[in-house]
Amino acid sequence: MAETKTNGFVFPGKKRSGRDDFDGDDLFISKKSMLSSGVPPTWEDPAAAFASARHEFGEHGGVNMSIEASATFTVMEPETMRRMFTGELGPDRDFFIYSRHFNPTVLNLGRQMAALEGTEAAYCTASGMSAISSVLMQLCSSGGHVVASRALYGGTHALLTHFLPRACNITTTFVDINKLEMVQNEIVEGKTNVLYFESMSNPTLTVANIPELSRIAHDKGVTVVVDNTFSPMVLSPARLGADVVVHSISKFISGGADIIAGAVCGPASLVNSMMDLHQGALMLLGPTMNAKVAFELSERIPHLSLRMKEHCHRAMTYATRMKKLGLKVVYPGLEEHPQHKLLKSMANKEYGFGGLLCVDMETEERANRLMNYLQNCTQFGFMAVSLGYYETLMSCSGSSTSSEMNAEEKALAGISPGLVRMSIGFIGTIEQKWSQFEKALSRMQDLGLFKN
Ligand SMILES: *Cc1c(COP(=O)(O)O)cnc(C)c1O
Repeated sequence: MAETKTNGFVFPGKKRSGRDDFDGDDLFISKKSMLSSGVPPTWEDPAAAFASARHEFGEHGGVNMSIEASATFTVMEPETMRRMFTGELGPDRDFFIYSRHFNPTVLNLGRQMAALEGTEAAYCTASGMSAISSVLMQLCSSGGHVVASRALYGGTHALLTHFLPRACNITTTFVDINKLEMVQNEIVEGKTNVLYFESMSNPTLTVANIPELSRIAHDKGVTVVVDNTFSPMVLSPARLGADVVVHSISKFISGGADIIAGAVCGPASLVNSMMDLHQGALMLLGPTMNAKVAFELSERIPHLSLRMKEHCHRAMTYATRMKKLGLKVVYPGLEEHPQHKLLKSMANKEYGFGGLLCVDMETEERANRLMNYLQNCTQFGFMAVSLGYYETLMSCSGSSTSSEMNAEEKALAGISPGLVRMSIGFIGTIEQKWSQFEKALSRMQDLGLFKN
C-alpha cells in the first residue's frame, strides 16, 4: 500500500491499484522508513525516541494500525513475484511475500523496538530464546566461538553449554564479565565471533560495563550481543556501544505475563541477513511472530516507560526498607551494590535502577518458607518465574530458572541456594504491599528463621 507522510505521521494512502506501483513518487517517502524506525539515534531518552518514530494509522483512519493478518500476499503482475524473490522488491518498498518472511504488522513492532533501543532496525520473534539462538547462529558458523558471561539466563546458558556445541559446533568460553582483563584474554582474534552478556544479569543483578566491553570486543573485530531483558528503558546497550540488543519481550515489554515473544535489534544489514531466503536464521528456522501478537504488543510499548518507572521506584523503596530491616538484599540502586556507580553512569535518566531485587535467605528452606508466607498468608506476590508483571513475582533462582546450571556453575555465578528473586509489581499502594511484606517477615521472626 502506498503512503503519504504529513508532519511525521504516516497516513494510509490509496489501495494498491491495478498495477504494482513500484516507481511512484509516494514510494520515495516510505522507502527508507520501512525497515528502520526513522529515528536519528540522538535522543537522550528512549521514550523521546519512541515518540518520534513513525505512527502507523489503521487502514480506515483508525488511531491504531490495522492488523495484516495474512500469511501470504498477492501481486498484480506475475513479473513482480520474480523481482520479490530476487530481493529487488522488498519490505522497504512495501512488497511482502509471505509472513514467515517480513509481515507489515510484525515489522511495525520491530520499528518500535528499534526506536526504543536506538538501533537501525529490529525484527520480532516468537520468543526470547529464538531471538537469542537465531542471532547467534547467524553471527557464528560451524567452528565458531563465543565468549559469554558466566551469569546468564539458564536457558541461554544451556544453549551455549550444550545445544550449540552439539548441533552447530559453536563453542563458548565463559568469563566473569566484570573482570575486563579476563574477557580480553579469552577473546581470540580471528576465531571469536561474538561477545555475549546480559546488561543486568539474571538473577544476580550484576551490571556489565557495556562501553568498555564493547571497546575490547571491537578492538578484536568481535560483535557484541547484549540481552537487555532486565532493563528496557533503563539501559540502552546499543547507545553505549553494543552492536546487537536481544530481548525477551515476554517480560517487562509485554507486562501482561500472557505472551511469549522476543526481538533482535541491530543494524539493518544483520536483520536483512537473518531474513535471507538462502541463509537467514529467522527465515529458515522460522521462529515467526504472529501478526495478531505483534499488534497486541505494539499497543503496550507506549506505556512501557511509565511501567518501568513505577517498577523501579518500588524496587528501590522496598530494597532500602529491606536493608534497614537487616535483610541481605541485592539491588543495583543501593550504594553498596558493586556496580552501583557504573550503572548510574550508564543509565538513562529518571528511570531508576531496575525492577528486580534479590533477597538472600541463605538456605533454600528459609527462602521457600518466606515465599510461602508472602504468597499464601499475606498476598504480597506470586510464586512464579518470569518478571515484569504488575504483580510481584518471586522465585528461588537456584532451584528454578537457574537449575540448568550445576552447583559449581551456580557458585561461580554467585547464586546462593537461598536467593529469592523478586520482580516488583506496581499493583496496590506501596504501604499496603509493604505491610504485607513486613507481616510475612515477622512470621519468620516468630519461628526464629530471621533475626534483625
Ligand atoms: C526469559 C528470558 C529469556 C528467554 O526468553 P523467552 O521469551 O522466555 O524465550 C532470555 N533472557 C532473559 C534474561 C530472560 O529473562
